Amino acid sequence: MADTDKRLASLLLDWYARNGRALPWRQKKSDPYAIWVSEIMLQQTRVEVVIPYFQRWMARFPTISALAEASQQDVLALWEGLGYYGRARNLHRAARIVMTEYGGQLAGDPASLRRLPGIGRYTSGAIASIAFGYDVPALDGNVRRVLARLFDVQEPLGSPSAEKQLSALAGDHLPSGRAGDYNQALMDLGAMVCTPRAPRCDVCPVENLCRARALGVQELRPVRPGRLPIPHYQVAAAVIQRNGKVLITRRPEHGLLGGLWEFPGGKLEPGESPETGLRREIMEELGVDIDVREPLGSYRHAYTHYRVTLQAFRCALVKGTPVPLQVDDLSWVRFAELADYPMGKLDRMIAERLQATR
Ligand code: SF4
Repeated sequence: MADTDKRLASLLLDWYARNGRALPWRQKKSDPYAIWVSEIMLQQTRVEVVIPYFQRWMARFPTISALAEASQQDVLALWEGLGYYGRARNLHRAARIVMTEYGGQLAGDPASLRRLPGIGRYTSGAIASIAFGYDVPALDGNVRRVLARLFDVQEPLGSPSAEKQLSALAGDHLPSGRAGDYNQALMDLGAMVCTPRAPRCDVCPVENLCRARALGVQELRPVRPGRLPIPHYQVAAAVIQRNGKVLITRRPEHGLLGGLWEFPGGKLEPGESPETGLRREIMEELGVDIDVREPLGSYRHAYTHYRVTLQAFRCALVKGTPVPLQVDDLSWVRFAELADYPMGKLDRMIAERLQATR
C-alpha cells in the first residue's frame, strides 16, 4: 500500500474511533445476524428510520431460527412502513435457507453470503467485513460519494466507467485486518461530514488528501446521471362491505409491495375515469362486477421512484362471488381486524379512516 493510502486509512480509522456513530447493531458486533438485519434494513432507508424497526425486530426475532419459524404475515407486519417489502421476504427466505441448508450458521465469506436471497455485492461486503473480519470493500451510496470526491471521479455515478473506478478505489485503500472499521468510517464520514449537499470540509479528517476539495469542485462530485421524470400514477381502490366485514386482497408475492394486503383496485389507464377503471380492475382481479358508489377520499404518497394518487370508493357487489384471479388471496375482515394485516402506506390510510369513521 502506498504511503498516501496508508495515511488515508489511518486518518479515517482515527476519526472513526472518536466520532463513529453509536448505532444499536454496532453494540452487537459479535452477532452477524444483527449486522445482517441492519444492513438489509439500511438499504434505501435512513438510519434514523431504521433504528426503531431494528430494535423491534431484534426483540421479536432475536435469532435466525426465531425468524425462520415466523409466518410471512408476522414478518411483513413488523416491516410495515419501512418500504421495499421484498427485503423482508428475502430476509425471511434466507433465514429458512440458513436453518435448513447451513446448519443455522451464517457463512462469513462474501461468495457464500451472496448465494442467499437479498444479499448482493454491497451487503455481502458489509457483513463479511464488519461481522467476520474479511478484507473486502462495501460500496454503498455514502461511500461512493466520499470516494468520488476524494479521488475526483469525473464520470457520472452508475456509468460502467465510474463504477469500475469506485470499485477499484474502495478495494485499493483497505487497511489489512481493519476493513470493517474502515468501511464504516467511510459510511459515517459520508453521513456526517461529506454530506450530499454542503460537505463540511473544514472539519473533515481527510481534507488535505481530497482532490475535489483541492480543486474546489466538491459540490460538483459525484457527477449525477441525467434524471428521468418521476412517474405519477392514478389509482382507484374499492371498499366493498358485506355482513359487517370488508374485502381485502393480498398482492402477488413477487412485485411491488408483494405479499401486503390492500383494498382491491389498481392503476387507471390513460384517460380512464376512476369509476370505469375500478370496475375493470375488480373484474380482472376478482371476476366480479361492482357498483361504484360514493367517494371515500383521495390519498397521496411519494415513493422513491414514483408518486401515487389513490381515490377510494365505497362499492357494492352487483353479481358473482370474488375469487383471487390476479391476487394471491382475499379475505373478508372486520374493521377492528384490519390492523392485523400488513399493508402499504396508502391502504393503511384508508383502513385507519374506515376504523375512525365506522
Ligand atoms: Fe468530502 Fe470535503 Fe472531506 Fe473531501 S474534504 S472528503 S469533499 S468532506
